[in-house]
Amino acid sequence: MIKYNSVTKIYNSKKSNVTALDNVSFSVDKSSIVGLLGPSGCGKTTLLKLTNKLIKLTKGSITINEKDINDYKDVELRQNLGYVIQQVGLFPNKTVAENIGIVPKIKKWKRYKIKQRVEELLNLVNLEPTKFYNKYPIELSGGQAQRVGVARALAVDPKIVLMDEPFGAIDPINRIQLQDELLKLQSNLKKTILFVTHDISEALKMCDKIVIFRKGRVVQYDTPLNILINPINEYVKSFLGTDRALKLLNLIKVQNVMKKNISNFINIDTPTDEINNLLREIGDDILFVLNQGKPIGYLSKTITNNVSTNLYKSIKPFPVLIEETYSLNEVMAYMLMYENYYFPVINSNGKFLGSISYKNIKKFISNIYTNG
Ligand code: ADP
Ligand code: MG
Repeated sequence: MIKYNSVTKIYNSKKSNVTALDNVSFSVDKSSIVGLLGPSGCGKTTLLKLTNKLIKLTKGSITINEKDINDYKDVELRQNLGYVIQQVGLFPNKTVAENIGIVPKIKKWKRYKIKQRVEELLNLVNLEPTKFYNKYPIELSGGQAQRVGVARALAVDPKIVLMDEPFGAIDPINRIQLQDELLKLQSNLKKTILFVTHDISEALKMCDKIVIFRKGRVVQYDTPLNILINPINEYVKSFLGTDRALKLLNLIKVQNVMKKNISNFINIDTPTDEINNLLREIGDDILFVLNQGKPIGYLSKTITNNVSTNLYKSIKPFPVLIEETYSLNEVMAYMLMYENYYFPVINSNGKFLGSISYKNIKKFISNIYTNG
């Protein structure tokens, strides 16, 4: 959808020339979130500004839908590009509604239509319209202002949204909430998003692919998973931090590692002599016990060799059940917390899907590092 071909930007001034971007090439797929990651001053904002022609290229080209941006009229281009600028940048003398309605107003939408759209957008970003419509930016918290910024960028339903450190100035707790909201929004809206951040964890969480910049150059462009597994050099490694293995755990879901189609489970109504036979067969393993398809606990030889008629007495419940969508990080935390290294995995309705163990996780991770 967007293609950067040898993009170079040099800022010329009387004193010196600054090369902000140096031969940058990569492309952005439709409906994906691509992160632009790097320390302050590496050219991230410059790239966004070039994309919507706020500033001029020195060399190279940018195409959107295979058409050079210079062949678009400025107005036409900007209406197809929503822009969430660094530091939010709401107009302090305009209300929330007026801020969000800026572009629709420029496009000469009818007043009732603008009002309707503003209310729709406020709902979309989780701000109650009756409460926020007439507020001024000074009356908003950082998180609320940021939501208004996102709503404003989406006002005329652009295909592409450029977001410049949208959550950079927000405290960690609200930031996580805003990130989750944006991901949820994106799962419906399917915009093509360029997402600037200097926070590696945010990039890993939010983006389908990440471009890592250093001093105006692309160092690595890949999926979060591949970057974590195969950081191209020491610079990327240092960016990922010494806890990169933990970040990897955070990225992988239980469903990618769990054992499905396992046979070491029984239903609660299984006859006891059959259960005792199974217990003997499975040896050191455990036997998951299900009630109407939901795990209620387990049996093992260490608890009892011989289940009596009162089966319930021998069943050991799990301290927690693991959902298939949990990250391996969460599972590891539960394992450490409860000193239990073997759990049943359920779907969102509580139905049994299989199991996950510390051994599975260890094997998976060591495979990634040795084969990757
Ligand atoms: P980032 O957004 O990654 O922090 P920027 O794109 O804002 O980086 O800036 C990249 C480099 O270009 C920096 O060295 C910055 O000082 C320089 N720069 C940015 N804007 C201008 C400008 N208008 N004139 C001169 N130099 C600039
Ligand atoms: Mg910037």
